[in-house]
Amino acid sequence: MSIRENIRGILSGLPPGVNLEAAAKSRTPDEVLEAVDAGISIIGENYLQEAEPLAPLLAGRARLHFIGHLQTNKAKKAVALFDLIETVDSLRLAREIEKQASALGKTMPVLIEVNSGREPQKFGVLPEDLETLLQGMAGLPHVRVSGLMTMGPFSDDAETVRPYFRETRRCFESIRMKNIPGVDMTILSMGMSGSYRTAIEEGANLVRIGTLIFGERKTVR
Ligand SMILES: *Cc1c(COP(=O)(O)O)cnc(C)c1O
Repeated sequence: MSIRENIRGILSGLPPGVNLEAAAKSRTPDEVLEAVDAGISIIGENYLQEAEPLAPLLAGRARLHFIGHLQTNKAKKAVALFDLIETVDSLRLAREIEKQASALGKTMPVLIEVNSGREPQKFGVLPEDLETLLQGMAGLPHVRVSGLMTMGPFSDDAETVRPYFRETRRCFESIRMKNIPGVDMTILSMGMSGSYRTAIEEGANLVRIGTLIFGERKTVR
């Protein structure tokens, strides 16, 4: 199956209001552009060095989301390059994004990454620490929180990850009700190739898909 056919198949099965993001790590610019031609309007990148050459090719055609782990010393580049950073998980990183966005005269939309599986080796804020982080970020005028993102524990079985998606949705709803200044709960980014249907059932409105669009990754990173 071609990239185009894969995308057509996925898009035709998505309920209204759910957006498809192509997770493009390790793919060539040609593959990414093929996906855009086939109707993808959001590209997710994990690495700045892969996103940099893509950005000018995508300008005006697709939005670029950062979905990798962002180190504070890379915030400047990320703020300049991306339309949305999905992986903010500390006040320290949020403050650095604020500083860089302010210098660029830009307001940076971000999602907060939730460590819904409470896995010590994973990034993301624990669900119980989410509100404190958001209250701390409320005073950052150049950072706009637009929702939540989660990975969930890795599993081949979509049902195994369902409780983690459900918990992230619960956080999303409970934060929304609190009306924290500068915090807008509109985007809920969860679900990958093996789990996106389950994620949508649990309320995701942005799914990040790599393998089902582009095929198996050749390089393990
Ligand atoms: C690679 C990646 C995906 C997509 O994974 P697939 O299983 O290839 O669909 C989604 N989200 C993030 C953060 C990723 O790094």
